[in-house]
Amino acid sequence: MGSSACSRRQFLIRSALTGLALEPAAARAGDPSGARSTGGPYIDVHTHIGRTWNGDQPVSAESLVKWMDEHRVAKAVVLPLVSPESSSYLNLTERAIEAARRFPDRLVPFCCIDPRTSYGGGRAGLGAMVKEYVDQGAKGFGEHKAGLPIGHPKMRALYEVCEDLRLPVLFHMDNLRGTDVPGLPGLESVLKAFPGHPFIGHGPGFWASISGELTARDLGGYPRGPVKAGGALDRLFDGYRNLWGDLSAGSGAGALARDRAFSQRFLVRRADRLLFGTDYLKPGQQVPQFELLAGLDLPPEVRAKIERGNAAKLLGLEA
Ligand SMILES: [Zn+2]
Repeated sequence: MGSSACSRRQFLIRSALTGLALEPAAARAGDPSGARSTGGPYIDVHTHIGRTWNGDQPVSAESLVKWMDEHRVAKAVVLPLVSPESSSYLNLTERAIEAARRFPDRLVPFCCIDPRTSYGGGRAGLGAMVKEYVDQGAKGFGEHKAGLPIGHPKMRALYEVCEDLRLPVLFHMDNLRGTDVPGLPGLESVLKAFPGHPFIGHGPGFWASISGELTARDLGGYPRGPVKAGGALDRLFDGYRNLWGDLSAGSGAGALARDRAFSQRFLVRRADRLLFGTDYLKPGQQVPQFELLAGLDLPPEVRAKIERGNAAKLLGLEA
C-alpha cells in the first residue's frame, strides 16, 4: 500500500493512467465479475487479508480466493503488516499462515516482524522467532514496511536472519517507510552487503527511481511523465543480481503507465526479475495491472516470466 490516504492514492493512480482504460476489458464489456479472458494465470506476489485501512472493508481469505478466481490469479502471496507506519490496522503473520492452511493450493504466506520489536537472546533469539514462521510455512519476509531507513542497523539484523533462513525480503520504500535518498545509496549498500539474498522492491520510492533527476519529495509520490535517463533502478538491476521488482500498487502501475515505450523495453530487459503483483486489500478495488500488462506488446516468454514464472522460481512454487 503506497499511501495512508486511499482516496488521494486512487486519484493519483487515475491521473497517472490518463488515456488508459482502468477496468478490465471484460468489465467494460458488461461482465460484472471484471474477469478477463486474456492474461494469466498469474501469481500475485502482493495481497493482504483482514482490515488494512480505516474506512475500508476487510478482505477475508474466502473473498480473496473468490477475487483470484475471477481474475485468473492462480496463487497469491498474503503479506502481513506489522509496523505502526504500515497500515491503520495490523495484520499478523499468524493470520496469513492460517489463511494459507485453509487454501494451501492458492495462498502463500509471508511472515513479518517489526525491526523495533523487543526480543531476548540477541540475533539467535530473533532468528528463532522468524524460523518458527518458516516452520509453519512462511515462504518470504514482508511486507517489510517499517518507519526506518532501508539500511538501518535494526533492519539489517532482520536481513541477516532472513539470509540465514533463505527468506526473500519484500520491502516497501517511500519517504516514511524503508527510506532512502535519490539514487538509492541505502538500498545499494544493503544489496552489496547481502549479495546472494533476494530483495524485492515495492512502493513509491522504489518505482519513482525508475527515472533519473529525482528530488527527495519524489520518493514519496507518484511522478508522472516521461522517464528521464539515469534512473537508479536500471543501475541497481545491472549491478546487483539479488534485486527484484514487485509491480504492484499505484506505484508499480504508475511506473508502467507513465512512459509506455520505456516500460515495454524495461520489462523486456528486466524480464527475469520482475514479479506481477496487485496490492489487493479491499473489496471492489480497481487493479490497473491486469489491463496495463495486457496492453503492452511483450514477447510471450517475457509475459509468462513476469505473470507467474519468476515468482514460482523465487518462492519455490508450482507455476
Ligand atoms: Zn501492500
